[in-house]
Amino acid sequence: MAETAQKSPRISFVSLGCPKALVDSERIVTRLRAEGYELTKTHAGADLVIVNTCGFLDSAKAESLKAIGDALAENGKVVVTGCMGAEPDQITAAHPGVLAITGPQQYESVLTAVHAAVPPQHDPFLDLVPDQGVKLTPRHYAYLKISEGCSNRCTFCIIPKLRGDLVSRPAGEVLREAEKLVKAGVKELLVISQDTSAYGQDLRYAPSLWKRADGEKEVATRFLDLAAALGELGAWVRLHYVYPYPHVDAVMDLMAAGKVLPYLDIPFQHASPSVLRRMKRPAAQEKTLARIQAWREKVPDLTLRSTFIVGFPGETEAEFQELLDFLDAAEIDRAGAFKFEPVAGAPANALENPVPDEVKAERYDRFMRTQQVVSARRLKRKVGTRQQVIIDSVTPFGGIGRTKGDAPEIDGTVKVSARRPLRVGEIATVKIEASGPYDLSGTAVGF
Ligand code: SF4
Repeated sequence: MAETAQKSPRISFVSLGCPKALVDSERIVTRLRAEGYELTKTHAGADLVIVNTCGFLDSAKAESLKAIGDALAENGKVVVTGCMGAEPDQITAAHPGVLAITGPQQYESVLTAVHAAVPPQHDPFLDLVPDQGVKLTPRHYAYLKISEGCSNRCTFCIIPKLRGDLVSRPAGEVLREAEKLVKAGVKELLVISQDTSAYGQDLRYAPSLWKRADGEKEVATRFLDLAAALGELGAWVRLHYVYPYPHVDAVMDLMAAGKVLPYLDIPFQHASPSVLRRMKRPAAQEKTLARIQAWREKVPDLTLRSTFIVGFPGETEAEFQELLDFLDAAEIDRAGAFKFEPVAGAPANALENPVPDEVKAERYDRFMRTQQVVSARRLKRKVGTRQQVIIDSVTPFGGIGRTKGDAPEIDGTVKVSARRPLRVGEIATVKIEASGPYDLSGTAVGF
C-alpha cells in the first residue's frame, strides 16, 4: 500500500577520473543498488552525494575539489572516495564539512560511511540488481578490471603509492564476470588495469577454475591465457594499458585469428631511450619500432593507441624530435599527449632541468600537429573498405559508431548513414566513404 511503502534513500553519484575509477564507481553503485538505495541524477533532493575523485594530476585534484564543493553547496551531505581520498588532508583543508573520506578501492569503507549517514531500507523483493551489476557505461560495452595497483615505479607517477603493488584478480573470477556481462548483452569488453601485460605476476600465474556450461576449464592467471579465454566469449575484446614486454608478441596470433580486436593501447609515454630511462618505464628497452613492424606484418589492420608526455624534466629538443620521428615511423594511429605536470610526491619532480612552460606548450602543439597528419594518413587507407562498426548512438540519418580500431570515449567515431533504423549496440558492416583527421563516415551495407 502506498502509504506504508518506505521511500528508498537516494544517492547522487559523481564519478571523476579514468576508466579504472569508473569501474570502482560501478562496484560501489552495484552494492548500493543491492542494498536498496536509489540513484538520482541531481544533488538537490538526494539524501547524500558520493564523489569518486581523481588525484593523479594537480588539474584533476582541482576538478575533484570543485566537485566536492559543488556537492556540499547543493546538498550538504558528502562522502568522498577515490584516488584523492588517499590524501585526506587536502580535502579537509578545502572542505572541512565532508562526512567521510575513503581511499581508492575501499568499497567497504564507502558503504560504512553511507550506512552511517543514510541507513539502508532494504527490501529484497523490490531491490533487484541485474546479475551483471550496474554499469555506468552504456549496456553494449563494459570495462573489465583485471587487477589493482602496479609494481612499476615510473618516476612521474604516484599510483603505486596510492593503490599499492599489483594485485591480480584470479582468471576464473575475471572470466565469470566477463561471461555474465556478455550474457546480459554486452558486446564489447574493455580490459583495463594499470599494467595489463604484467597480469598474474603477483600470483605466479596460478591457474584457476572457470566453470562453463560445457565443463570446467583451468585457466592460468596470465595475460595471454586470459586474452585467449576472453576471446572465446563471442564479444569484442579490447586490450588497454599493455606494455610491450616480449610476451605481447604472442597476442598477435589471437588478433590474426579474430579472437581479440586488432587494437593495442600501449602508453609509451616517450620514444627517446634516455627520457624513458629517466621515467623508469617498464619494457623500455624492447626495440619497439622493429617489434611494431613485425606486429603489423602479422596483423595488417592493427591499430595502435598511445599516450605521451611532452616536456618531461631534462627533455632536449633532440629527444623531443626522437618522439616525433617515432610517431611518424611507428604510425601510431591514435595518440594523446600531456604536458608534464609535477604530481606531489612523484620522484620526477626532483629531476634536473625542468622544461619551461612555453617550451612545453610549443612542443605539445608540434606533437598534436604531427599526430594529426599520421592519424589522417592512417584513416585515409580505410576509405573504400568495409568495416565492422558498433553503434553507440542513433541519429535521424543512421547512427554514430566505432570501428574495431576505436575505443569508446578516447578514439574516433564513424558517422553511419543507413536505410533502416539502427540499434545501439548492433554491429553493422559499413562501407567507408570519407575520412577526416580523426573520424570516418560511410554507409551501412550489411547488418
Ligand atoms: S606503469 Fe608506471 S605510470 Fe603506469 S601506473 Fe604503474 S607506475 Fe604509474
